[in-house]
Amino acid sequence: MGEDHTIKAHQHGWNSVAKIKLSDGFPFHPKLSSWFSDYSKIPASTEIEVLEVSCGEASCPTEETLFVWEESGFGRREFRISRKKEKISKMDMDLSWKKFSS
Ligand SMILES: [Zn+2]
Repeated sequence: MGEDHTIKAHQHGWNSVAKIKLSDGFPFHPKLSSWFSDYSKIPASTEIEVLEVSCGEASCPTEETLFVWEESGFGRREFRISRKKEKISKMDMDLSWKKFSS
């Protein structure tokens, strides 16, 4: 994973926080699974793993969420949103998805 803020060089690890099916919804966000259904063509039974950046430094502004799933025709897909998972907005989803799918 790339490091794109460099106030001070330090490592960011991705921490797996949830593994859900779209049909079950994301436990930390009431609307995210329906947005996923709107944007993607992945079946509701698809398992999606959610990872977030874990950084030990309190002063670090980095807040990112990564969604990983297997999709037929694509293989492993990694969709990244530069926002803390609970705070993802429809606009974050929209902009990130456009970048992801272009
Ligand atoms: Zn950091």
